[in-house]
Parts: sequence; structure tokens; C-alpha cells
Amino acid sequence: MKITCNVIKDCLPLYIEDMLSDDSCAIVESHVTECEECRNHLNEMRTFNVIPVDRNASPFKKIKSTLFKKKILTIIFSVMFSLVLFIVAINFLTAPEYNPYSERSVTIKEISNGLVLANFEDNVHGYDIYSYPTDDNTGYIYHIITWNSIWNRNVKKSITKNTLINPNLEKVVAVYYYQANGNEDILIYGKDINPDGGIVTLPSLFLAYYATIAIVFAIICGVFMLIVYRNKKVLNISIKVFLLPVSYLLAHLSIRGFISSSYTATRDFFAILFIMIPIYIALLILVNIIRFHKNKS
Ligand SMILES: [Zn+2]
Repeated sequence: MKITCNVIKDCLPLYIEDMLSDDSCAIVESHVTECEECRNHLNEMRTFNVIPVDRNASPFKKIKSTLFKKKILTIIFSVMFSLVLFIVAINFLTAPEYNPYSERSVTIKEISNGLVLANFEDNVHGYDIYSYPTDDNTGYIYHIITWNSIWNRNVKKSITKNTLINPNLEKVVAVYYYQANGNEDILIYGKDINPDGGIVTLPSLFLAYYATIAIVFAIICGVFMLIVYRNKKVLNISIKVFLLPVSYLLAHLSIRGFISSSYTATRDFFAILFIMIPIYIALLILVNIIRFHKNKS
């Protein structure tokens, strides 16, 4: 049988590893001295084998750092996700549960020198109050409500201190109790400024406007992303911008659900902004992780 180059090439890996018998070794060596092609091949295999670690180091390191990065991202994602759950839970537990007027949770009485005091019952955890001047500018009209919360009822039973309604001695014309349920406000102090028809305190709608703006903004970004789809750099930036209104809307859903009118709009708005930050970070990481998997496949 003729010993061809192919036979020698098959033997070279074993030759390098010193795993050939002496006879086979002699055949390989004698062939290699005469055949330049096989000699070159052997030299190539040797350099590759002597410094395999160095040769492979950079892709190897890359894989290692990619895995490390992925691990870090996963950890941050979990932390952000937990943070969101935590804030949602706290918000839910401390959210105001309005006391209906029937519970007589607050009484208003004048103490000396025209100062008017709001006297709260023990079940009151907090109160909201807003005021505006009368049409003839002779004094102020006040609307007050009291509330409790799951947290306060079950965990920390704090009692709201009595408070002065007019610390600067404004003239108190009337104080109404509003019920935050669409029913008429009830006069609890002073004279009824509107004896003919009832006053109803309506929930604030500004969260609805903000949510609408976010939806419109997200749609515009979405359309823009479809247009610049081929330009990876612009697409990356527009994804980051697109995730902002998306985070806001997710935050709104977490805090308010699908309801956008609120009697606690300011409180809700700050909770939404607060929760939007970890949601945004989590979404950015999610996009990165998806990209990892896409690159892999
Ligand atoms: Zn050969």
C-alpha cells in the first residue's frame, strides 16, 4: 500500500501528541522530510498546538465576559423587578380609603379668636383639604375628606392630630365634607353657599391627559422605529426613547390599573414617576438580553 499525503495528514495529530508507535513515527518523519506540503502542515499544527491558549484567548475571554455581563444584567433585572413589586405593594397598602361621611370622622368647631379646628376621630389616618375664596371675597370655602389605609388599619395604627383649618385666621365661610364617590359634598360647618344645588368634588383628570400623551408619544416612536429599521445605530437610540413612554404607561397600570381619574392624582403621579425608573431600567436590560439570544442564534 502506498502511503499517501492523506494518510500522513491523518496521522499528524497523533504524531504531535506522541501517540504513534515507533514504526509509524518513522514513516511520518521520513515522509515529512521529503514532502514539503506535509511538512508545512505539520509546522502549522505545531504552532497551533504549542500556543493554543493564546490563540484562543480573545474569543474565550469574550465568551466569558459576555456570560459575566449577562449574569450582571440578570441580577440588575431581578433587583429592578423586585423594587417595582415592592413599590406597588407599599402604594397599595398605604393608598387612601376614603371615609364616607356617615362615619363622622371629622368635626369642625371654632375655638377662640376665630380659629377653626378640625377634630379627627381615631380611625382617621390622613386627610386632604383644599380651599378657595368665595365669589364676593369675604372669606374661604373649604373641602375636606378623611381617609384610612390597609397599612394603618393592620400594621401601624397612627392617629391623625387635630389641625387648624385657618392658621392665618382666614374667615371660614363654609366647610364641606367631600365623599370621593361622586355624591354631593356635605356641609359640616358654616353656612351653605349653594343652598339650591349640591356641590360635587370631582376626581382629577390630569393622569388621563398624561397617559394619553404617553400613548401618542409611544406611537410616534414606534412609527419612527419602523422607518429607521435598517439603521442599527438610530434604531438603538429610538428604542431607548420608545421605552420611556412605555415605562410610564406600565407604571400607570401598576399604580392605577386602567383607571385614570383619581382623587389622589398628585400622590399617584409621584408613585408613577418613582416606579417608572426601575421599570425603564428593567426594560433596557430585557432588550439587551433578547439581543444576546438573537446574536447567539
Ligand atoms: Zn505529503
